[in-house]
Amino acid sequence: MDSVYRVEGNDVIGYWYRGLSRGCRLCMKGSKIVIFVTGICGVDCYYCPISRERRSSEAFYVDEEKIHEITTIIDEASFVRAEGASITGGEPMQRYDLTIKIIQLLKDTFGQSFHMHLYTSGLGATKNAIKYLDVVGLDEIRFHIVNDSIWKLIEYAVKNTAMDVGIEIPAIPGNDEEIWRIVLRADRIGVKFINLNEMEVSETNLDRILFRGYRIAENGKTVVGSMETAKRILAKAIQNGISIPIHLCPAQFKDSIQQRARMLRKARMCANIDDKVTEDGMIIRGDEEMEPRLDVCAPLLRH
Ligand code: SF4
Repeated sequence: MDSVYRVEGNDVIGYWYRGLSRGCRLCMKGSKIVIFVTGICGVDCYYCPISRERRSSEAFYVDEEKIHEITTIIDEASFVRAEGASITGGEPMQRYDLTIKIIQLLKDTFGQSFHMHLYTSGLGATKNAIKYLDVVGLDEIRFHIVNDSIWKLIEYAVKNTAMDVGIEIPAIPGNDEEIWRIVLRADRIGVKFINLNEMEVSETNLDRILFRGYRIAENGKTVVGSMETAKRILAKAIQNGISIPIHLCPAQFKDSIQQRARMLRKARMCANIDDKVTEDGMIIRGDEEMEPRLDVCAPLLRH
């Protein structure tokens, strides 16, 4: 089947055409951890949803937790029974050495099949820097196109690395022409997949989104028209028989479903024999309800 959507309970977890990247398939199972290596980024997209706390700081997080040691990532991956990790920011290339160390550590600890993908705008990155990510074992790289200068780097990555090269961009309402241009160009040069993200609203991007005349959906979390724009692109791709896979990722999937799946995995691993685990991945211990945070779970790893 060319085009599908999948539903969990009442939630649509995604729409796609011609399949999903391996990174997305693992995300859907909740079996990927998210490593946020820095809030710093040389770009200033008006739609950037990164929180105030994380933005422009050297903050370092694994999933929802702020961490100080790179080895803490191993604890989290073990508790989630992760099959892979994504590296994001800010701009991971701004903390290139740390990014390389993380890839090496996770591959050395969990083996080459531990799937790793990374998001980058590519700005400021060199071809050598991209090539070395491939050498240390990065499996998938996703470029966020913030301007046309990045295409050279994308083409280089497609031709000269073994990584799956994808493009991940927000579905800006009414931006059909520009998105379609990206689809055609990506298809022509052999990019492996395109992800269109529903535009998310956060405390940090709300004013700038409104200033541009977009409207916020009733749920207060997404921009009106973003899903519709992405769906039009998907329909056009099907109509034109485009060969590149396209995936539409709803904001609620990222927000709740993916995070909940990860919490559940962690809570089940972390719970004591007398504890209960709720559907949302909370641990009930006696009268107390607690999140399966690393300080609750990690002591178990030491025994
Ligand atoms: S490139 Fe990504 S991290 Fe940087 S400002 Fe834009 S959306 Fe935010």
